[in-house]
Amino acid sequence: MVKRVLLTALLLAVSIGAAACGSKPPSTAELTPPTATATASAQPSPAAAPAAGVAAPTAAAAAPSPTTAAAAVTAPAATQAARPAAAPTPKPGASQRLVMIDPGHQRVGNNEPERVGPDTRETKPKVSSGTAGVRTRKPEYVLNLEVSQLLKAELVQRGIHVVMTRETHDVDISNKQRADMANDAGAALVVRIHADGDSSPGTKGFSVLYPSAAQPAVKPIAAASKQAAALLLAGLQQATGQQGRGLSARDDLSGFNWSKVPVTLVEIGFMTNPEEDELMSQTAYQKKLAAGLADGIEGYLKAVGR
Ligand SMILES: [Zn+2]
Repeated sequence: MVKRVLLTALLLAVSIGAAACGSKPPSTAELTPPTATATASAQPSPAAAPAAGVAAPTAAAAAPSPTTAAAAVTAPAATQAARPAAAPTPKPGASQRLVMIDPGHQRVGNNEPERVGPDTRETKPKVSSGTAGVRTRKPEYVLNLEVSQLLKAELVQRGIHVVMTRETHDVDISNKQRADMANDAGAALVVRIHADGDSSPGTKGFSVLYPSAAQPAVKPIAAASKQAAALLLAGLQQATGQQGRGLSARDDLSGFNWSKVPVTLVEIGFMTNPEEDELMSQTAYQKKLAAGLADGIEGYLKAVGR
């Protein structure tokens, strides 16, 4: 049973301590395409003033210009779950088309314990500093922000409002706090940007994570999150011509379990794979990723009538 496996993975991850992005959780296996290897995405986190890190929503003037790609996105999940389970009600005044981007990690991690979710007493470090490129030597938190900024620009250009959890590396925002920021903003969707790591240098490919309903608290957002994840995956596949590693349900991520709005986490590739590490630092490839993700986000907003 998946639930049991996931719970076990959670316990293992907790006992191990960190589970940083890049370090895969011991078991979990729900990656659709290839099997297992749960890409653990480390959660970001510090505890500073969330408000400080919140960039003012940049209004996008332009009218949403549907792209062919977006229209073409026929994600598998889209068909399965035509209607998102629960479209969270945005706060008064909040944009119906407000997306929060969370560039994973930060320069200095914060190992203070933080509860993994409202349904458990287990804890994990508030935020880790992530993995690093085996060839580029680039820290994950740097790559995550590079791609996030391009994604933000792409979304703004399409008339979608964007809020960022951070726009610098020197912040201290825990994974729970990042979730709280999105909850407070009434975001229609949260997209967390991470890169992966693995002990085997051959492991590569992007994947998209979404909250598993195994945690009761996320049940209201589980279906919508999965739908969004499938659209993001389809967008990445179309933009890069690669299949990637598929979707993965996770119940061990604080940034998911504290969320009250649909949330996804994109592992854009493995920094422990030399070729993919280099590729992910190329601006042209980063722009492809951003365009593919924007297509998926736009498709999701349309699907939920925003
Ligand atoms: Zn990460």
